[in-house]
Amino acid sequence: MVAETFDFVIVGAGSAGCVLANRLTEDGRFSVLVIEAGGSDRRPWIQIPIGYAKTFYDASVNWKYDAEKDAGVAGRALYWPRGKVIGGSSSINAMVYIRGQREDYDGWAARGLQGWSYDDVLPYFRKSEDNSRGADAYHGAGGGLAVSDIGRDCHPVIEHFFAAARELGLPLNNDFNGAVQEGVGRYQFNIRDGVRSSASNAFLRSAMRRPNLTVISEALVTALTFDGLRATGVTFRRQGNLRTVTARREVILAAGAVNTPQLMMLSGLGPAGHIADHGIPVRADLPEVGRNLRDHLYCPYFYRVRERTLNDSLTSWPWLARESVRYALSRRGALATSVNHAGAFLRTRPGLDRPNMQFYFMPMSIESKKGGTKIGFHDFSGVTISASPCRPTSSGNLSLRGADPALAPRIVPNYLSTDEDVADMLSGVRFIRQLAASKTLSALIETEVEPGAPVTSEADLIADFRARSNTTFHPVGTCRMGLGPTDSVVDRRLRVHGVDRLRIVDASVFPDMISGNTNATCIMIAEKAAVEILAAT
Ligand SMILES: Cc1cc2nc3c(=O)[nH]c(=O)nc-3n(C[C@H](O)[C@H](O)[C@H](O)COP(=O)(O)OP(=O)(O)OC[C@H]3O[C@@H](n4cnc5c(N)ncnc54)[C@H](O)[C@@H]3O)c2cc1C
Repeated sequence: MVAETFDFVIVGAGSAGCVLANRLTEDGRFSVLVIEAGGSDRRPWIQIPIGYAKTFYDASVNWKYDAEKDAGVAGRALYWPRGKVIGGSSSINAMVYIRGQREDYDGWAARGLQGWSYDDVLPYFRKSEDNSRGADAYHGAGGGLAVSDIGRDCHPVIEHFFAAARELGLPLNNDFNGAVQEGVGRYQFNIRDGVRSSASNAFLRSAMRRPNLTVISEALVTALTFDGLRATGVTFRRQGNLRTVTARREVILAAGAVNTPQLMMLSGLGPAGHIADHGIPVRADLPEVGRNLRDHLYCPYFYRVRERTLNDSLTSWPWLARESVRYALSRRGALATSVNHAGAFLRTRPGLDRPNMQFYFMPMSIESKKGGTKIGFHDFSGVTISASPCRPTSSGNLSLRGADPALAPRIVPNYLSTDEDVADMLSGVRFIRQLAASKTLSALIETEVEPGAPVTSEADLIADFRARSNTTFHPVGTCRMGLGPTDSVVDRRLRVHGVDRLRIVDASVFPDMISGNTNATCIMIAEKAAVEILAAT
């Protein structure tokens, strides 16, 4: 029988929750309970990097949300996968390791968030990291999170991209997370010896041997409990039974950018009118809960090429059989890598002092098949170049559909709703065309399959990216950090404004979007929060 009172109760065993569980139990002083809605991550398609395609639509590890129909993306309702499993979204993500730009964090500090400048947060990025290249001024070695090079597993077709970059005079960059982010290069990945380095593998699994850490999985937290404006614990449902546990010191929400604001509102913390409309008693009017939603979009350009790509290999049974044996014996090869082998951070508009656009180069081309239940390869040798604006200004929101915790929240992204974002994406897709028109890539490319050569006018390019862009799965900001309750939900120490003993530590606290993929930043935030929390004890 599990004890009913713990020093800390953490909701969610995702990227941030796993780090917190590790750090808060490290010195043995405190008892910690982590409650996770999903189940075990000991599944081959989570651990084998190429399994990404399998978990993408798998309801047994994925919340499988749908955003609302959105005018900015031609009225489509975009599919939003989120990890519902130990390790959270880090167990189903594409493992690209990016921290963003120095200016992103300096911008956080400039908002008055003391302690969040790049120089302040760099030590926490380094602390979590075990970079296969070893430690230097920007990188750590010996931390839990593996960061490794793709090395010889990088598909040969990717070399053409580097040659095209050289031809166009673009800078090459061997380390997007070092002194300078700008340039074209191979990504580094959260992969250790051919196995996904999820937050679970990196931080939680070894901590679970400690007697002061308890993890309860397959348990949906339905509400927080309070004594006035002091959080005292949580109620959760497991196997049909409701249970309440108490936190002596703090409740920490790490349920991610979708579920944390949902849980806040279900618990009476949020925009008073909206909560009351659903018959939930209002505990604190926090108008910013669920607002300021930011996400990255990407627009893929698909090319039929004259060389074999992973489209050919991954659909050939003899090849797959050979690669499976290779993977089993050496943990190497195409199965041991992510889908995005290389990419770039570039300035695609004049007058910018830092990259505004991230690119992804995939040695394959895929599409959603069987009514959005499966990922399939195009039936030709294909590559994909995608443009993803780094810092969208469009802002969405998230609200409740009802008072039932099992109901998915209403997600309104408002993609591409500012002129700036449209102009940015336009410059990104035009840049793809420029790259594809290089001598090197023209020799490789047979045809542009989508959007296709006839799509050239500004109006057609915009209509195309509205019709085909997709989320990069980076929602942030729905309980953002700030100076007070009129502009934010938590303070710079991540404590909920006006509520005692309640912190939020996950993607929802980003004050603004960062220039790149979001997992590393969630982990950094949790490393920093753990130090704050322990310092306050
Ligand atoms: C398909 C996909 C691809 C991605 N690719 C990349 C990439 O390549 N690189 C990168 O840097 N980032 C990537 N990301 C984004 C990155 O993984 C996330 O930003 C990050 O994992 C978010 O961490 P988090 O701690 O905020 O939330 P999560 O990791 O999502 O964790 C939240 C946890 O809380 C649990 N939970 C939620 N509600 C409840 C509840 N009521 N009760 C109990 N438990 C609950 C969830 O099940 C989950 O385990 C990707 C994300 C996805 C989905």
